[in-house]
Amino acid sequence: MSKYIFVTGGVVSSVGKGITVASIGTILKSRQISVTAQKLDPYLNVDPGTMSPYQHGEVFVTQDGAETDLDLGNYERFIDVNLTTESSVTSGQIYSEVIGRERRGDFLGGTIQVVPHVTTEIKDRFKRLAEKSKADVVIIEVGGTVGDIEGLPFLEAARQMRNEVGRDNILYVHVTLLPYLNSTKELKTKPTQHSVNELRRIGIQPDIIVCRSDYPISEEIRNKISLFCDVERKAVIPLTTVSTIYEVPLVLEEEGLGELIVDKMKLKPQPPDLSQWQELVNLIKTPRQPVKIALVGKYVELQDAYFSVREALQHAILHHGRDLELVWVPSETLENNGDDSVLRTVQGIIVPGGFGIRGIEGMVRAATYAREKKIPYLGLCLGMHVMVIEFGRYALGSDEANSTEFNADTPYPVIDFLPDQKGQKIKGGTMRLGNYPCKLVDGSRAAQAYGQSLIEERHRHRYEFNNEYRQRLEKAGMVYSGLSPDGRLVEVCEVADHPWMLACQFHPEFGSRPGHPHPLFRDFIGAAKDVLREGAQPPLPLPSQY
Ligand code: GLN
Repeated sequence: MSKYIFVTGGVVSSVGKGITVASIGTILKSRQISVTAQKLDPYLNVDPGTMSPYQHGEVFVTQDGAETDLDLGNYERFIDVNLTTESSVTSGQIYSEVIGRERRGDFLGGTIQVVPHVTTEIKDRFKRLAEKSKADVVIIEVGGTVGDIEGLPFLEAARQMRNEVGRDNILYVHVTLLPYLNSTKELKTKPTQHSVNELRRIGIQPDIIVCRSDYPISEEIRNKISLFCDVERKAVIPLTTVSTIYEVPLVLEEEGLGELIVDKMKLKPQPPDLSQWQELVNLIKTPRQPVKIALVGKYVELQDAYFSVREALQHAILHHGRDLELVWVPSETLENNGDDSVLRTVQGIIVPGGFGIRGIEGMVRAATYAREKKIPYLGLCLGMHVMVIEFGRYALGSDEANSTEFNADTPYPVIDFLPDQKGQKIKGGTMRLGNYPCKLVDGSRAAQAYGQSLIEERHRHRYEFNNEYRQRLEKAGMVYSGLSPDGRLVEVCEVADHPWMLACQFHPEFGSRPGHPHPLFRDFIGAAKDVLREGAQPPLPLPSQY
């Protein structure tokens, strides 16, 4: 039977609960304890798929096609598991399920209430994930902050679980913030005390308190929290801000969190081995020569909108022993003959996913720049549409080539709905989502990168390459290096006469892991790292021709 760890957050949001959950996963997995994770989101949206990236950052996609919160990306990267739909739960899903059953008459006229009907549905989701994953430990993050109205049914369900599974099989971890007062130069524990009181009011006494802080936490503060919040002294775990999120598992392990969890839950672990994480962090902290990459997108003001892309770039950069200098370029600034001087200094251009017309022409301009100046280019989903539009304009000799997403009346719809997709109007649940197989063409850059001919990658889009233009673009030098096994869908394309210009219809960024960079990101950085740009100098020692 699986055991459960519930992680709640206090004082403020964005306190680092997601990374704490992911790191608890890492330190348990390092002891050969199998883990999985689940995120409970209190909002009423049925899934995060239709939510603006400006409000919630990136939408992470699981292999089985669930559109989820970006925290699931961190769980996958830290625990190195592929999660499924069961790992993402929103209040909207719970309520629509319960109300749907009521409409069907399943409750036979009974009164439907938050307790027990909603809480039972929530607990079923916990148990379903446990059963399906067969993990030793299921770690569940309760989204939001303790005290929010929306989170109450989730907390109530978490409380009820204690009696169902028994005290040894459940653990409550509360993550709080200790604010620093500059005037008195001290960390304050009062907000933590209040949020623990709030938790207790609901009936949950935390077993462990993880204290986030930007400053070192003294013994005195630890004792105080232990006394006022009624947790053991060793169960007050300080987590001061670190320079890289990949250091968090090491810090928590060092503070004894791993041993504490294992003891409290009576788990049977192997000795912990975090050596790979230590190596990774050592490498991150070693000064390395930078590679300058431009990320040209429409949501760059909120960098969380590209969370997995940035992580995948980091993994690839570390593989090459280099440092990432990422330049965030709002694509609109490149439009209408805007200033493209920023592109002159970068060694690679990446155009990530996105929706809607805003900023598209700027992305196309970046792709033209990459093609003409032979700068490595990686296009992800929308970035492939942009590359195809750009190449289409060049090959067809018309500025009107476009995707029907941006111009429904274009005479050259190089990206379009497939014939069987036409007529779709609603926005929720109409995308190609999750894993699809793709066959790679021998000798292509894609096949070279993957080192295999059949791959599966995660999708999230509505529009596709329009097959009517395949031949004309091919004649001008486009290579279709990845196709769906039936040959109908273009999944990867490349520009032949170019050092490295490749785009894919899927999202490889979701599959990249620290220590195992995704092959496309790895080879993109591999091509970019040797490119010399304005003002740069060749690395020492100089090659013989100098
Ligand atoms: N907007 C494009 C589509 O719907 C691309 C989506 C994406 O980049 N994820 O097909």
